Amino acid sequence: MTGAHLENYLARVGAVARILDITNQLSDEEACVQYIEKLRWPDGVVCVKCGGKKISRISSRGKTGKPRHLYQCLACRAQFTVRTGTIFQDSHLPLTAWFKAIALIGSSTRQMNATRLMRELDVQYRTASSLLLRIQKALESGGQLEV
Ligand SMILES: [Zn+2]
Repeated sequence: MTGAHLENYLARVGAVARILDITNQLSDEEACVQYIEKLRWPDGVVCVKCGGKKISRISSRGKTGKPRHLYQCLACRAQFTVRTGTIFQDSHLPLTAWFKAIALIGSSTRQMNATRLMRELDVQYRTASSLLLRIQKALESGGQLEV
C-alpha cells in the first residue's frame, strides 16, 4: 500500500477513533464541517451521486441564519453536504453535539444508555436514543461514518 492509499484507508476505518482524539479541536460547527470534508474526501470533494469531481461550493444561510455549506456537482447537478450519506444525515443536531456524543460513547467504560446521553448533551430522550443507535452501529462497523 502506498502512503496515500494507507492514509485513505486509515481515514475511513478509523474515523470514529480519530474523532475521539481530536474532539477538543472540534468545538465549533465550522471546524467540524472542515474535518468531515477532509476525512471523507482527502483528495477533493467527490459527488455522492455520480462520483464526479467537478464540484462547486455554495455558501448559503439556513433559516436560522447559520451558514450552510452546500456542494453542487457540475455533472449531475446533485446538491449535497458533508452530512449526506453519513450517520449525520437527516439530523438537525449541530455537528459539535454529534462529535461530543461520539466521544462520550466511544470513551465510556460503562455501557452508555440513552438516559445518560440525554443528560450529558441536554437533548430530548428520542434524540439521544437515535444518536446512540447510529453511533454504536458506526463503532461496531469499525468507525465507518458513511452509511
Ligand atoms: Zn454528480
